[in-house]
Amino acid sequence: MDLTEDELLTAIRRVLSGAGPEVVVPVGDDAAVVQPGSGDLVLTTDAMVEGSHFVRDMITARDLGHKAITVNVSDVAAMAGSPRYALCALTLTDEVDAAWTMELFGGMREACDEYACTLIGGNLARGRDVTVAVTLTGEVAPGRALTRGGALHGDVVVVTGTLGAAAAGWRIKQLRGRLDDEDLAAIRRADRPVARVGEAQVLARHGATAMIDVSDGLSLDLSRLCEASGVGARVRIADLPAGPHALPEEVLGGGEDYELIATLPSAETADAVRAELDEAFGVPLSEIGEIDGGHGLVAVEADGQEHPLTPAGWDHFR
Ligand SMILES: [Mg+2]
Repeated sequence: MDLTEDELLTAIRRVLSGAGPEVVVPVGDDAAVVQPGSGDLVLTTDAMVEGSHFVRDMITARDLGHKAITVNVSDVAAMAGSPRYALCALTLTDEVDAAWTMELFGGMREACDEYACTLIGGNLARGRDVTVAVTLTGEVAPGRALTRGGALHGDVVVVTGTLGAAAAGWRIKQLRGRLDDEDLAAIRRADRPVARVGEAQVLARHGATAMIDVSDGLSLDLSRLCEASGVGARVRIADLPAGPHALPEEVLGGGEDYELIATLPSAETADAVRAELDEAFGVPLSEIGEIDGGHGLVAVEADGQEHPLTPAGWDHFR
């Protein structure tokens, strides 16, 4: 590192300047102090580890910082919450310099500004791999957090946006070939995911019974929702919304899409949500199947053939 810790902290503080609302003591003291909101507190944390979640020469520091915040925002969104405050514990190696670190914080600041939350503190350490661990708080109206556990037999299953593009983007980046517009769109999905905060609140307002964000892959995350709800689901494969250049296995289990899977009480509700998401965000909503009283997932192919759908996706421990 080309700066001392105190010099680096001073520079970081400059990037993060401007306290958010209800911040009593901002970044720079032993701990931050905020005024509690009036709703239920939503808490989440997620670490991005070099070699496991990212390869440092294949993503810019700015994109990495932006993504570290966004993946946490996505988890708060999936509870129908609004993000409020972020903390970042950063482990740096000898190979990164102050410029890289400042870009990382610049990306985190950018994401915080986008999602109306504030980075109020953190910690710097030195280690063998770069690790960006973000803790995020959020707020939801009392009793209104939307869990994975409420899906009911007869509900329809919907998903926002498109699936598989982030996995396709990662695959395309590794090929390092000539890129067309769709390639670039897929890579953008991998490097700059979007958290569906407003979309989640529309789904909740229309009576969604359960919700989860797609961090590890549609089939894996939907199976988690079903398991938490004690139900099964039938998934119409032809209705899955494929992102740019996404292969069928990337649509089903690519991961890192950060779209929302939700269950809604009826097709009419899904139509109402679809109209509102299109109008407010220009984001599509696809009806991809229904909840049944069974166990596990069943794939329904375009020709009507059915077979068990084995959950596939990103598993950190496999
Ligand atoms: Mg999640």
